[in-house]
Amino acid sequence: MAIKNIIRMGHPTLRKIAEPYPVNQIGSGEFNNLLTDLKDTLAASGGIGLAAPQINQSVTVAVIEISVAESRYDQSTSMPFSVFINPRIEILDRQEQGYWEGCLSVPGLRGKVYRPQHIAVHFLDQNAHTQQIELQGFLATVFQHEFDHLQGKLYLDHIKDTTQLSFEAEFLEFELDRPGLTQ
Ligand code: ZN
Repeated sequence: MAIKNIIRMGHPTLRKIAEPYPVNQIGSGEFNNLLTDLKDTLAASGGIGLAAPQINQSVTVAVIEISVAESRYDQSTSMPFSVFINPRIEILDRQEQGYWEGCLSVPGLRGKVYRPQHIAVHFLDQNAHTQQIELQGFLATVFQHEFDHLQGKLYLDHIKDTTQLSFEAEFLEFELDRPGLTQ
């Protein structure tokens, strides 16, 4: 196990545009260590996605894992452990939908963010194979949240209406009962 410290908002690494991961290093010992660190740190955090900059590695690598149990976020949204190296987003439908997001680097807060809800992601997997997947709804949001981290952005940057920002405890106390907020 290699559980790393997750850096928080204010740490300059979170605001840097991450470097593309050197393709010829995929599969190296260093790469495998990074992957293990991301996987172990994500598992220990209780989160559903983690980007390398969040463990202070400024490279464009992110992981997502949403177990079926965690897919309470939405009806049918789980994702097996997936590694995205040097990803690129293609927006297939600009229509936006809002979800309440949280971030391991901004602990204790939730905010409602509107993002395009149908995207294609072009990336390399952990075997350096070119991959492409289409994501819709909640999964499209989850990926765009991680992609933001690779661009030096945080979900808070998207919130124009700060009434849509809440502490987690108050979110749970007051917001979840309102219909339609986590659509
Ligand atoms: Zn985050």
